[in-house]
Amino acid sequence: MKTPVVIKPSIPVSRFSLPRRAILSPSKKRPGTGADAVWKSRLRQHGKPGDMKHSTERMLTTHTGSLSRPPELISAMGRKERGEDYDPGEYASLVRSAVAGVVNRQLDAGVSVVCDGEQGKPSYLTYVKERLTGFETRDTDTGEDPWRGSREVLAFPEFYEWNARTRTGIVAPRKATVCSGPVTYIGQQALQTDIDNLKAALDGKSADEVFMPAISPSDIEGRQRNEHYATDEEYLYAIADAMSEEYRAIVDAGFLLQVDDPRLVTYYVSNPQASVEDCRSWAELRVEAINHALKGIPEDRIRFHTCYGINIGPRVHEMALKNIVDIMLRVNAGAYSFEAANPAHEHEWPVWETAGLPDGKVLIPGVISHSTNLVEHPELVAQRLVRYANIVGRENVIGGSDCGFSSFASSEPEIHPTVVWAKFRSMAEGARIASRELWGA
Ligand SMILES: [Zn+2]
Repeated sequence: MKTPVVIKPSIPVSRFSLPRRAILSPSKKRPGTGADAVWKSRLRQHGKPGDMKHSTERMLTTHTGSLSRPPELISAMGRKERGEDYDPGEYASLVRSAVAGVVNRQLDAGVSVVCDGEQGKPSYLTYVKERLTGFETRDTDTGEDPWRGSREVLAFPEFYEWNARTRTGIVAPRKATVCSGPVTYIGQQALQTDIDNLKAALDGKSADEVFMPAISPSDIEGRQRNEHYATDEEYLYAIADAMSEEYRAIVDAGFLLQVDDPRLVTYYVSNPQASVEDCRSWAELRVEAINHALKGIPEDRIRFHTCYGINIGPRVHEMALKNIVDIMLRVNAGAYSFEAANPAHEHEWPVWETAGLPDGKVLIPGVISHSTNLVEHPELVAQRLVRYANIVGRENVIGGSDCGFSSFASSEPEIHPTVVWAKFRSMAEGARIASRELWGA
């Protein structure tokens, strides 16, 4: 078992203290040049790279990452994913303009901490197939439905059969992939394209901060069965070693890294034979692997996101937050993003009264949900934010979304894009209301 390495001790910050960035050591990054320096300079006006920005003067907002792609991009991405002829130049241009479009719309909606909407990825998870060696596709459909055999499908088979018929239009191929060789990282160019597109989209803009999501080792392990490594642990750590290159490059580019790890909590619902204790033991090793992959990255450049996935269903068999929160907090991250806005999990906020969030760390509770087309009223958003601020301190809360709004690139995203922008505007207005209540201005 490998020992997690704590990169930097948490700096105690009492509630309602002075801005945290004032007491942190200066960034060790060398100043960049050209366009890179320009956008970092703009970023520095609000919070210099090197310190994750807290809600020190007002309530900040963010979201989980994935946003719907424009129809032209969906079409081109579909051809690319199916192995059909496509024009790489046209495709690159479509991705670039899509990233610019979603950055603009996030800022217009009033979101403080923005990202590229994962416009260039077929999904938050399967994008790594181009970035890692060691995997091959099998002509079976076993990789298609992540909920097959889950507690939810066993309890509500008729609902999920009906629901599956509505899930058309997904770009990612419905085929299983397996690990049949050594896993190494070869995604440098693809990642650099993502970084360049996001920096270009930010040129001339003023975001409080910028993040880029990347998938966790555990989710890659769960998606691709191991047929190469002697043990699951060896397989998991090989993935962690490979993905650490992507994690580090995102931070080196000046962005916050967000590690997406829905499997931390979906393992329970996906494995009806496993007890809560079984799942906790399973999760401990996965968190150790994440920390192994994050070795050398300051934890205040890292956000951790977990969720119960895209599942607009009954959701009555999911892992309770109280049963996993202590293990989640072992992830060496500066912020934790989790579901808190939907009716299956909103009641869990009292967990944070006793969970022991380390000083200086940030909670990003979902205050808008990815599993309903209802737009949350700004007053409700504000109530949710104030509730968390009263528990962990206003500067340690950032409003977020429960999950992404198009985790898989699809012509039929679960939540219509026009509704997503309305949710973002409502979240920003709710944050303004919460700011007035918490800061009095
Ligand atoms: Zn999620």
